[in-house]
Amino acid sequence: MLKLLKNHNPLEGAVGENVVSAFSLKTNGNMSLSYGETSRALENRKSFLSSLGIDYKDLVCAKQVHGSHVQSVSEVDKGRGALTCAASIPDTDGLITDTKDLPLAIFTADCLSVFLYDPQRPAIGLIHAGWRSSEAGIVACAVKSMQDKFNTDPARLIVGFGPRIKDCCYEVARDFKGKFSLGLAERTGSLYLDLAQVNKEQLTGLGVKEKNIFDPDFCTFCSNEEFFSFRKEGKATGRMLSVIMLTE
Ligand SMILES: [Zn+2]
Repeated sequence: MLKLLKNHNPLEGAVGENVVSAFSLKTNGNMSLSYGETSRALENRKSFLSSLGIDYKDLVCAKQVHGSHVQSVSEVDKGRGALTCAASIPDTDGLITDTKDLPLAIFTADCLSVFLYDPQRPAIGLIHAGWRSSEAGIVACAVKSMQDKFNTDPARLIVGFGPRIKDCCYEVARDFKGKFSLGLAERTGSLYLDLAQVNKEQLTGLGVKEKNIFDPDFCTFCSNEEFFSFRKEGKATGRMLSVIMLTE
C-alpha cells in the first residue's frame, strides 16, 4: 500500500505556510489537453484544483519541450493554457513567480516535477525535469533566475520532488554515460538513471540544504496503479498535474 502524503503535498516542510502545492494521482484522471484521453481533462482539473482552493481557469501552463527555459510569470499570464493547449507559454519547462494567487502547472507521466518555495520573498517555482532538461541543468537555471529576480537565498529554499520513474525502473541507453557524471547505476549489464539524484546535486551545488529537499520517493512505473507512466503504458497514457501557488 502506497503511503501518500497529506493532500499529496510534496513540500511537507512548508505545510501551514503561505503556499499550496500538490500533485494529482491517476484516480484524479488525466489532466492533459494534448495527451491521453483528453475529453474530461478540464473537468478533472476543476475537481482536483477546487479541492486545493484553486480556480482551474487561473492555471498557468507551459508547452513543455524538454528544454531548459524557465519563464518568470505574473498576473498578465494568469490562465494561459488553462482552457486550451495552444494558449500555453511556448518552449518552456520551468515557471517561477512571486505573484500571489497565480497557480503554476507542470504535466508529467514519468518525468520529475520539482517544486521550489522561497518562504522569505515569498516566491515559487515549478520545473519539468526529464532527462534532457536535467542534463541541461534546468533546476539550476530556475534557482539562478529566482536569485536574480526575487533575491532568493538558496540556503532557505524549500524543495519538493513529485512522483517519477525511479532508478529501479528507468533503464537508459549506454551513451548516457557521456551525458551524466552521476545518477547512473549499472545492473546486470543495463544502465539506470536516477533523475532525483541528478537534480539534487544541482540544487545542493547552488547552496540548497539537503535537509530542505523533500522526496516522497514514488516510482510511477512501480506504482502504476496510482500514477500514469509513459514507459509502462505507452503513448495513450494520461498526465498528472503538479501545481503550486502562493496564497495571501
Ligand atoms: Zn520503479
